[in-house]
Amino acid sequence: MITKEQYEEANKQHEAAEKIMNQYHREKQLTFDQRLKSGVPFTDDDLMYSAYDLCPCGHGLAYPKDCGFGHYWDCSAILKGIADSKVKHTGQLPFAFYSIKSEIQPSANGSTTRGVFKPKE
Ligand SMILES: [Zn+2]
Repeated sequence: MITKEQYEEANKQHEAAEKIMNQYHREKQLTFDQRLKSGVPFTDDDLMYSAYDLCPCGHGLAYPKDCGFGHYWDCSAILKGIADSKVKHTGQLPFAFYSIKSEIQPSANGSTTRGVFKPKE
């Protein structure tokens, strides 16, 4: 039988752990925000690609692996700093509003737009 004292002690530990976890997520988000703001191009290793969806320019949609839940899908060429500014690109597609299948989802069966470039005629 768990005593009330044991329960209260566990609750204290839980609150302390939650503070640490919240701080961790805040710092991680801050680091990502600064990284994004710096404008330094991402590499393929930094990015998660869509399984099937392409930007109108022909490159895959992607997002940086370190972003938070409030982020968005974008053109991988833009994220990598290799986008052709003379062609049309996607807008930013927030995760909350677009259900785009990622290459890591098991149901993607290994499909990816990583390395794909299919410009429209
Ligand atoms: Zn594009």
